[in-house]
Amino acid sequence: MAEDKALYPPQNPIAVGLGGRCPRCGEGRLFAGFLNLAPRCSACGLDFSFADSGDGPAVFVILIVGFVVAGAALLTEIAYSPSIWVHMVLWLPLVLVLCLGTLRPLKGVLVALQYHHRAQEGRINRAD
Ligand SMILES: [Zn+2]
Repeated sequence: MAEDKALYPPQNPIAVGLGGRCPRCGEGRLFAGFLNLAPRCSACGLDFSFADSGDGPAVFVILIVGFVVAGAALLTEIAYSPSIWVHMVLWLPLVLVLCLGTLRPLKGVLVALQYHHRAQEGRINRAD
């Protein structure tokens, strides 16, 4: 990421990430599709090519949703011991809704945090 010289008021990376907004101006849209990033901000023109959240959002979704759903399934099994079809009807749709519902906001937050902390690949500075 090239040094960003543009002057914008600092944005809360959590708020703009959850809202899917540009991490620099907080106005333009970050996403062009469900999970695809737009090439640049429609409001301030920030090039989003620096953004690479990798597997980060999926890892957080797996850990958080897995904890919630596995815990709920275990508590339900211990308390009520329902048939296996009850578990299927309860937890499969919940997994789908929670995973699809949290993936995009988490990707937005990770991209906004990457911009906020200027995270990028390490480079060797040979200027000295
Ligand atoms: Zn912007």
